[in-house]
Amino acid sequence: MTSEKAVRHILGISGGKDSAALAIYLKEKGINPNIEYFFLDTGVELPEVYTFIDKMEAYLDAEIIKLGSENSFEDHLKMQVKMFQHENFLPSPIARWCTKVMKIQPLEKFMGNDNVVSYIGIRADEKRIGYVAKQGSNVTPVYPFKEDGIVRDDVFRILRETVGIPEYYKWRSRSGCYFCFFQRRDEWIGLHEHHPGLFKQAMAFEKIDPETGKKYTWVEGETLKELLARKDEILAKKPEHNPNISWQEAIIEDIDNDEYDDQACMICSL
Ligand code: SF4
Repeated sequence: MTSEKAVRHILGISGGKDSAALAIYLKEKGINPNIEYFFLDTGVELPEVYTFIDKMEAYLDAEIIKLGSENSFEDHLKMQVKMFQHENFLPSPIARWCTKVMKIQPLEKFMGNDNVVSYIGIRADEKRIGYVAKQGSNVTPVYPFKEDGIVRDDVFRILRETVGIPEYYKWRSRSGCYFCFFQRRDEWIGLHEHHPGLFKQAMAFEKIDPETGKKYTWVEGETLKELLARKDEILAKKPEHNPNISWQEAIIEDIDNDEYDDQACMICSL
């Protein structure tokens, strides 16, 4: 007699607001208590993300499995440089190897060939589709927020009433690696203010070719040193903060204006 393999139910918690709110929402509703929670850990996430993941683990009273690459970011960078014979090969929106090797590959290994139902925190007020599994794979995505009409305000309410809003939202609009190239210039300034050591580490990855003068930078066209020198100019362009609203409300407004929303990967910051 052949025994059919049980369907696995998984939910990725990125450290961002939507996936966290989804995990809480499903738990409160008592939907699929056997969900396997996972966190794709690049090893270079913001410290606030790790704190938030611990908080979520305590609230859910369940393990959040940490999945990651066997190699560090530095090792991957060296491999990319060698493979493509570049002077430097920092990931960027058009050379997005970081997501592939540090998140998608570990996730695919975790799912294997199992039949998987994957819960995705895309809201009813979003158009994005999220991570799409390979054709013919056994992954079925489900979108409870879309089905139940849950929108951004609901997500913030769910978090406020439970684990709170992740601390990094005070200065950055999404989770992910501390050096993520999707962050805005004012967020780089935020990184410098909140984590000067990490800003310095990000600077150390940049290079200028001494012969050609070509810059290999996180932000197109300028090094982080140059960006920091323009701090006042960059911050002057930030929308004015309204002192009558809390930082959480200010952030909700800020996310509304997020120019990178369509580019940033759901797998990284959902
Ligand atoms: S958060 Fe940014 S740097 Fe990190 S894997 Fe995702 S896209 Fe790459």
